[in-house]
Amino acid sequence: MGSTFPCPECSGELAVIAGICNLHVTGDDRIVNLLQCVSCSRWFLSEWVDAWLSTYVDVVERDLGPLADKDAQDLLKEMNECPEPYSKWCRCPAHGTAEGLISRLPVRNSRSEQRDV
Ligand SMILES: [Zn+2]
Ligand SMILES: [Zn+2]
Repeated sequence: MGSTFPCPECSGELAVIAGICNLHVTGDDRIVNLLQCVSCSRWFLSEWVDAWLSTYVDVVERDLGPLADKDAQDLLKEMNECPEPYSKWCRCPAHGTAEGLISRLPVRNSRSEQRDV
C-alpha cells in the first residue's frame, strides 16, 4: 500500500510520513498517505481505493501534489491526532482535510486495474 513512486520534481525517494483511511463514495476503503521527498523535502499525497463492484474489484491509485508546506504540516498534525487512522469510520478533521486536498491537488500519476472476484 505504501506508494513508492519517485519524486516528480527531483526523482528522489518519497517516504510515507503518515496515512489515514477514509470512506470512498462507494463505501469502500480508501487509503491516503502523506509522502515527503527525502531529497527536496516537497510533500505529496497518494490515494489508493479498493472499490468492490458487483463482479470485479476496481483498484485505483493516484499520486497527487506537490502540497504547499503549510497544507502538509496542517494535514500531518491532524493525521497524528487521528484516534483511529485506519478506521474508515473515523470522522476526525484529518479525513475531511485529506478529502479537500485530493479534490484540488494536481494528479501526477494515475493507475487503475480491474480484478475479477
Ligand atoms: Zn524531490
Ligand atoms: Zn481520524
